[in-house]
Amino acid sequence: MRHRFLLLLLVAALLTATWPMAALPAYAQGTITISNDQPDLEFPERLTFQAKFQNDRSIEKVTLEYGVDQWTCGTVIAKAFPEITPGQDVSAEWIWEMKQSGSQPPGSKIWWRWRLVDDQGQETVTNRKEIVWLDDEHDWETESGGDINLHWYAGQASFGRELHESAVESLNKLGEDTGLRTDKPIDLYIYGDTQDMRDAVLYEPGWTGGLAYSDHNIVIIGITADQMEWGKRTQAHELTHVLVGQLTFSCLSDIPTWLQEGLAVYGEGGPDAPSQKQFDEARQDNTLVPVRSLSGGFSEDPAKADISYTQSYSLVKFLIEQYGKDKILEFLRTLRDGATVDEALQQVYGFDIEGFEDAWRDDLGAPPRSGSAAKPTPTLVPTIVPTFVPASISITGPTPAPTRERPTPTPIVIAQADESASTAAAPVAETESNDHLPIIAMAVAVVLVIVLVAIVIVSRRKQRMNV
Ligand SMILES: [Zn+2]
Repeated sequence: MRHRFLLLLLVAALLTATWPMAALPAYAQGTITISNDQPDLEFPERLTFQAKFQNDRSIEKVTLEYGVDQWTCGTVIAKAFPEITPGQDVSAEWIWEMKQSGSQPPGSKIWWRWRLVDDQGQETVTNRKEIVWLDDEHDWETESGGDINLHWYAGQASFGRELHESAVESLNKLGEDTGLRTDKPIDLYIYGDTQDMRDAVLYEPGWTGGLAYSDHNIVIIGITADQMEWGKRTQAHELTHVLVGQLTFSCLSDIPTWLQEGLAVYGEGGPDAPSQKQFDEARQDNTLVPVRSLSGGFSEDPAKADISYTQSYSLVKFLIEQYGKDKILEFLRTLRDGATVDEALQQVYGFDIEGFEDAWRDDLGAPPRSGSAAKPTPTLVPTIVPTFVPASISITGPTPAPTRERPTPTPIVIAQADESASTAAAPVAETESNDHLPIIAMAVAVVLVIVLVAIVIVSRRKQRMNV
């Protein structure tokens, strides 16, 4: 007991001693004193890293290393080489232009540190520090609990509380119905309207209302006070994307769009009445979309995309209700581990995509798909199915709010295949021209660039599948 008490006393003394030091603007690292080590945040355009260094020997080279806390397949550190005037007192600055690199999601955590080399080749690495990438023009409030941190600035306290309560409910319901659960709190940033949200991510397409960044555990949505119902549904939709992203995260997974979006609409509690009506009509007119064609991206046209969402929902609902939530989780994990959709369906459910479509159509009471073998059931009359979807499908009374789709995500640099939460760097790291760069460093740089380009291509392909 006495030892434990002494230990506690020691820890308390250490904490007391180090606490004020951490708050000091200047700190020492080896023989180097670092001051002003705080980036200037100009949200959403740029982040200016800056610091001053003082040493008793001349500092010859300064490298900035930085990255973003997010799920990636491995660890990559972005490097930038600020131009400096070598000496005992050195100032360094480097600007991260988000318009060039693609913006980070609001609320993401950006880390950095400096690597310094003096005239005797002695290297010093400064403490790693972190900043939250978020605007300060809005007066953000936060409601936390139930694995949701909901941040908002417009509207009353009751507005934020109601959205928070609804998000927690959606999360709980998703857990009960599908088995999908989060392994850490999800941050939801609610912008006052869609325009504010788009401004925050430097993103222009007119139909984006909510964005899910599953690799950051962040969702952002623009919701006005009179869009409460749409807002709650959209929260649930995007939260589902985050949960699916968490569960299936790997460098191998390729999740078909019908599964992603079907689950997300399932998470919303099903399609709204006009979408359901459109789907029922398509079923009656025998104009349902072949399941295989729903594996890629949906139409850019929201009206055409809507039937794809509702049909995806119907497919997922069929899998969950007929075979249970354990199977859908197993299906997702099998895809995560690198199986193709056909392989995973076969392994978990015992049919391929066409077999799946047949079973689903049968359950719906829809005619067999075009080209499938006539069923032996005597009551079925072979039907000629048109190979195109009539263009006259229309949706009545669409919500004025934008659809609940997310855009092409920011390109993220990733590398290595270990499935741990780690850091990834922004894809752009400007380099200064340096006449004395050693040949080895240049060779390493060339290899790095090749690897990064390959990884960005793979990453983009992977993320495109995750819309
Ligand atoms: Zn979606």
